[in-house]
Amino acid sequence: MSTLQAIRGMNDILPDEAELWEQFEELVRDWLRVYGYRPMRMPLVEPTPLFARAIGEVTDIVEKEMYSFTDSLNGEQLTLRPEGTASCVRAVLQHSLLYDSPRRLWYMGPMFRHERPQKGRYRQFHQVGVEALGYAGPDVDAEQIVMGARLWDDLGLTGIELEINSLGQPDERARHRADLIAYLEQHRDRLDADGQRRLHTNPLRILDTKNPAMRELVEGAPTLMAYLGEASLKHFEGVQTLLKDAGLPYRINPRLVRGLDYYNLTVFEWVTDQLGAQGTVCAGGRYDGLIAQLGGKPAPACGFAMGVERLLALWADQGNRHERPVPDVYVVHQGELAGRHAFRVAEHLRDVGFVVHLHCGGGGFKAQMKKADAAGATIAVIIGDDEARANEATIKALREDSGQRRIAVERLAETASEWILGNECE
Ligand code: ATP
Ligand code: MG
Repeated sequence: MSTLQAIRGMNDILPDEAELWEQFEELVRDWLRVYGYRPMRMPLVEPTPLFARAIGEVTDIVEKEMYSFTDSLNGEQLTLRPEGTASCVRAVLQHSLLYDSPRRLWYMGPMFRHERPQKGRYRQFHQVGVEALGYAGPDVDAEQIVMGARLWDDLGLTGIELEINSLGQPDERARHRADLIAYLEQHRDRLDADGQRRLHTNPLRILDTKNPAMRELVEGAPTLMAYLGEASLKHFEGVQTLLKDAGLPYRINPRLVRGLDYYNLTVFEWVTDQLGAQGTVCAGGRYDGLIAQLGGKPAPACGFAMGVERLLALWADQGNRHERPVPDVYVVHQGELAGRHAFRVAEHLRDVGFVVHLHCGGGGFKAQMKKADAAGATIAVIIGDDEARANEATIKALREDSGQRRIAVERLAETASEWILGNECE
């Protein structure tokens, strides 16, 4: 019988890698706490109309990337979440979290998109999502951007550059859109299939094309910036002033439009050229219309999402190595009475906070000591029936040649502490 395999584009994260993920997640949690963000956990499955309404019908995600299915029990249309913002806003509205104050929220977890798997692009991937709901000013946009810079610093990552743009307000976009369609229609023969299809549905996305043959056409197109009114420009300038005050370099990219429909005003991406084609590690912006669009009382909002796989790939490429955790103590034992005593001693040492690896599975002392050494333990605690009867244990340093000592179990934790700390001080 052939063995079963994971679905293409959905990866197992094995212990060495998963431990690196955990290191990353710890840093991320600390970083979010510093900015006053609080955690949220939403379901992985949502009603399909949530995404169609939030993200937009004519987007890559809703048109072709969603894992949607019908619940065979009740006929409901369901979708594995392709992103977190829509779910987060849905949850906030459902539980009236915006009732008395704005909220800074974050979440982390898997997202699902039916894309062609390649380096940095998977069908199940992970995002850290950060959302500030109920805040209107450019200060929170700038804060979210500066947050990114701080995280890259905390992670020791270099070479991630900031691009920003403003998408203005819906009426400004509508005027730009009309002129853009007129321009693109004049050059219809130069549009690729995607461009033809999007000409009247989502022409702004044509500006975001990855097709080099269309670059010249796109470069000559009217840019949205020229259509922004006073208030939009002032907001954009407000963001830039704070970025400059923070000493954060950025590049204005007029073709940065983002793949989701809900954005307005500030949009930004953090990009690197060290990951090949999938170089955007973090992206976000303001989405003032989304809350009302999902049925809530209108409220402004701003957020971003980071691609965890891409950031971790960069982290590893830039020399961050996973360190395999080693136990403080490896407990070896031989004999039936010794086995029971060892089990109790191991629990006792864990009670006082040691990382303890109890040898399981039998074998002689010599073989077990080899395992203790291979595990990288600092000390071994050795128990034979003799020690068990006397309620004692033998403690042996494994990383230095300081011999071994037989002591009463009551004194074991204290002695182990001295030996382990002594070892760490060197
Ligand atoms: P792209 O243009 O690369 O498809 P996107 O605009 O669809 O990105 P967003 O929806 O903004 O991406 O998601 C935010 C971040 O999540 C991206 O910048 C990227 O780091 C990560 N991401 C998005 N899709 C994937 C994927 N299929 N696999 C891995 N990471 C992804
Ligand atoms: Mg995409």
